[in-house]
Amino acid sequence: MPDTAINTSESTTTPTAKSLKRTRQDSANGPTNGHSKGTNGENIKKERKNQFGEISDGHMKLGDWVTQWENGRTKFHKSAVHPMLLKHIDRLVEGKDKPRFYLPLCGKSVDLKWLLDRGYAVIGCEIAELGIQQFFEEHDIKYKTEKMTEIEGTVYKGTDDDITIYSCDFFKLTSAIMSKVDCIWDRGSMAAINPEDRQKYSEVIIELMKPDSRYLLDMFQLEHHTFAGPPHNFEPEDAQKLYGTKCTVEHLENVNVMCAWQKTWGTSYFYENDFFITPKSN
Ligand code: SAH
Repeated sequence: MPDTAINTSESTTTPTAKSLKRTRQDSANGPTNGHSKGTNGENIKKERKNQFGEISDGHMKLGDWVTQWENGRTKFHKSAVHPMLLKHIDRLVEGKDKPRFYLPLCGKSVDLKWLLDRGYAVIGCEIAELGIQQFFEEHDIKYKTEKMTEIEGTVYKGTDDDITIYSCDFFKLTSAIMSKVDCIWDRGSMAAINPEDRQKYSEVIIELMKPDSRYLLDMFQLEHHTFAGPPHNFEPEDAQKLYGTKCTVEHLENVNVMCAWQKTWGTSYFYENDFFITPKSN
């Protein structure tokens, strides 16, 4: 069972004020390495690690992700379809005939295949070509590749299946290149990108959304005094801050997903939050 699987000992609940009132021990907006105190005055360890076991200040360059894939450090990958996608799929696709589904920072998520099997048009973005190749090979999907002309990157297209995965930097992939989408399933992107890029990230996503699109955002909430990340903390109010001007943001879930892997990081809690986001124009 993957370490990030939902912890069944605590069932999914509608978030309550109590469950959300956690202490923000480390700002989601910047690293705290080198500082002896966090925002609340608690001790921050000087040398912290990321999920790959490396001493880190939490920052990742694009090439660092490619290296993790080359070294097989992809424990974030889940072998089963994500429970939150299963739980909320009907609401995401309601009334949509053959939605174009986007999975930003998709890795080799099995959710891509599950959505494809439901008859949807599936689009992914992932910088690591190795991850994309593994996806197609593990699911026995034939593909062809093309160099992208607009930006640096390679497109992987299913030969007989309606799936396209762009191997490029998410921040450069606009609707002029891939067209707008009907639905987005986003697991863990804000946890992966450097926290100072979050505003830009939300702008890229909003630009890709059709006026009647629906977006399911799944993020982690953790504290960082001994752990640098990624994954990075994402407070529930961050969703409202990033998307609330242009979109309606509904907080759907707050679930304890602390498992053995997260315990090794030294973080004292690890929650998963889910948001349902729709453009206000709709
Ligand atoms: N959503 C996936 C993977 C999450 S881990 C899942 O649920 O399994 C984050 C992934 O994003 C990694 O595979 C990493 O290679 C990729 N990535 C990180 N920054 C990126 C960027 N700027 N553009 C495209 N891919 C990126």
